[in-house]
Amino acid sequence: GTAAGAAAGDAFAMTADGCRILLNANVGTPAEAEEAARAGVDGIGLLRSEFLFLNRSQAPTEAEQAEAYTRAVQAFDGRPVVVRTFDAGADKPLAFARIGGNETLAVTNPALGVRGIRLGMLREDLLDTQLAALANAYRASGHSISGHSLKVMAPMATTVQETKWFVDKAHAAGLPHAGIMIETPAAAVQAASLLAVADFASIGTNDLAQYTMAADRLDGSLSGLLDPWQPALLRMMRMAVEGGLMAGKPVGVCGEAAGDPLLALVFVGFGIRSLSMAWRKAAAVRSALRLHSLADCRRMAQAALDARSAMEARQSALSLADSRL
Ligand code: PEP
Ligand code: MG
Repeated sequence: GTAAGAAAGDAFAMTADGCRILLNANVGTPAEAEEAARAGVDGIGLLRSEFLFLNRSQAPTEAEQAEAYTRAVQAFDGRPVVVRTFDAGADKPLAFARIGGNETLAVTNPALGVRGIRLGMLREDLLDTQLAALANAYRASGHSISGHSLKVMAPMATTVQETKWFVDKAHAAGLPHAGIMIETPAAAVQAASLLAVADFASIGTNDLAQYTMAADRLDGSLSGLLDPWQPALLRMMRMAVEGGLMAGKPVGVCGEAAGDPLLALVFVGFGIRSLSMAWRKAAAVRSALRLHSLADCRRMAQAALDARSAMEARQSALSLADSRL
């Protein structure tokens, strides 16, 4: 019912039988958050905070970070904003983030190295400053509407210990909603255990595809393996959703795959109720949802899971979809 929602001319996203699905935006800067807010999405499902950390010689101060997060939260005026803590490191080295006094980290296999929460654990000072800035922005937001205006999540969680360490730290900093991204097979297969200690999770399909298929996401010649319709990735995702159901905690999707309308239906069929994507893709996903019931989505999900190839998964889901899609 906000002005931004009305401007987009669309009500909440729902399936044909009235199941509400949250459609959120993935954004990379506060300016992009402002654009997304005008597009009438339900919130920000992923604010990538790396814009504050990359290409600079000094770490951003708490004040500078707090201002950026506050700007994103204010643009959404009480709708939830999920900020991901810095995912830099390894392939995106930070000039100021030396570990153990090393001038440079000898990195031979960056995607499997110190990135995401791993860097946060080795450079706790950087993470502490970021969490303090986020807590500052959370307090400034007045915890409007649901009290969930700002949430924080960690990238690349793989173990219960890492998850508990991060979530306890975020809570202690004054952030009551702390979650993790499910981006590794380790996190997907033990999602119930991770979610026993986290408040929520969001599946990052870009990295989950990379690590499930052992295929570098930056290598264009591997795009067939990285196809989000690969049945192995879909099964991995389904496992993560089941873990969330067991733990009684929400699991969303924030990888780029959520912006494909047909795949979004499959994810809803798995039990996902929150999808985050490039905001320009939200309208097409909203239209697709309106044409299909939950039962339709479940049938499409099962067909895709049972397929033997990415192409077959897509075709079998499409064959069950409304012809207007
Ligand atoms: C992902 O891995 O799917 C994700 C959303 O995070 P990023 O693309 O920033 O690694
Ligand atoms: Mg990722």
